[in-house]
Amino acid sequence: MHHVMSQPRSIAMIGAGLAGLSCAQALTAQGHHVQIFEKSRGVGGRMSTRSFEDWACDHGAQYFTATDPAFKLQVERWQSVGAAALWDAKMTSFDAEGWQTIKPSVGRFVGTPSMTSPGKQLAKDLTIHFSTTIDQLLREGGGWTLHSKEHGLNASRFDTVLLAIPSKQAEVLVQPHSQVLYQYCQDAVMLPNWTLMVYAKAPLPLDFDAAFINQGMYSWLARSSSKPMRPQAEAWVAQATSEWSSAHEHLTKDEAAPLLVDGFEALTGYRPELFQNHLWRFARLAQPNDTGPQFDPTLQLGLCGDWTTGQKVEGAWLSGQELARILFIHA
Ligand SMILES: Cc1cc2nc3c(=O)[nH]c(=O)nc-3n(C[C@H](O)[C@H](O)[C@H](O)COP(=O)(O)OP(=O)(O)OC[C@H]3O[C@@H](n4cnc5c(N)ncnc54)[C@H](O)[C@@H]3O)c2cc1C
Repeated sequence: MHHVMSQPRSIAMIGAGLAGLSCAQALTAQGHHVQIFEKSRGVGGRMSTRSFEDWACDHGAQYFTATDPAFKLQVERWQSVGAAALWDAKMTSFDAEGWQTIKPSVGRFVGTPSMTSPGKQLAKDLTIHFSTTIDQLLREGGGWTLHSKEHGLNASRFDTVLLAIPSKQAEVLVQPHSQVLYQYCQDAVMLPNWTLMVYAKAPLPLDFDAAFINQGMYSWLARSSSKPMRPQAEAWVAQATSEWSSAHEHLTKDEAAPLLVDGFEALTGYRPELFQNHLWRFARLAQPNDTGPQFDPTLQLGLCGDWTTGQKVEGAWLSGQELARILFIHA
């Protein structure tokens, strides 16, 4: 099929996670003018590394895999500029039988030197407004303007608005404009995740780098400092199950901390003294969803994100590429 180059459009992208950045980059390559609005102070979203004194700990996505040919190429580009590397982790699993070594079956990649590095690489030539939480989309004369919590009404007028944020956060923004998109968001229920980051003065006597935990309150345990280009100082991350996290979602950080610490000690035999904890409110989908990004060509309003495609880092990136392709077709 032969496509005619579309007219350049002014596009607002909400969210600078991997999906938003991937989409914005593809749209920019098509010749469109894209401005990204991001509520936090940096890019990467749930791909995130927390730094504390001499320590660093990946407290969101732990690694990513690559199966799609286009994403594989993207990962190779990141590797070639030092923004990602293979994590040659010694893997185990834990269940009633105890600890069992797992043979690596897939390549596990991480951002280097931090989990935000791949996002930073994508963001290089993009225009991003940080600390800008979009709380309202206003439709005016066939175009869009944006309102943010921090800065009020934005002066720019956009032809198209795209949301690359978790379903629950997208839901409130699309509700006044599209019942179909609203329903699509509502159907994608996302579950929380309580995460514990542990900093230790000496290496813990555990003979592995990462473990899938199949019983108890945790589902994942990893030596974050075993990843390439991380600080040497011993750092561990433990992620609670979706069930445990949902049941304890209402707790404050201080209330959840002793429970997370007790669980860590029960699992590893080590009682953390120096630690931080974090609640991801929208960590992952309750039910898998692969229906793909959505776009309403009349409204010029669209949605992408991991929760539309594959639920993972790779899916987030692919969803951004796919939404850009859909726009190209509708232009
Ligand atoms: C604890 C945890 C562990 C995980 N482990 C893995 C793993 O091992 N492997 C894997 O592949 N995936 C993992 N994931 C999932 C992976 O992190 C996500 O699939 C992926 O990063 C999602 O990218 P995204 O761009 O779709 O969304 P996000 O990364 O969530 O990006 C959305 C962005 O939008 C911003 N935003 C939200 N609302 C607004 C608003 N109103 N205005 C402006 N900005 C807004 C947010 O600040 C954020 O930066 C994990 C996730 C969590 C939470």
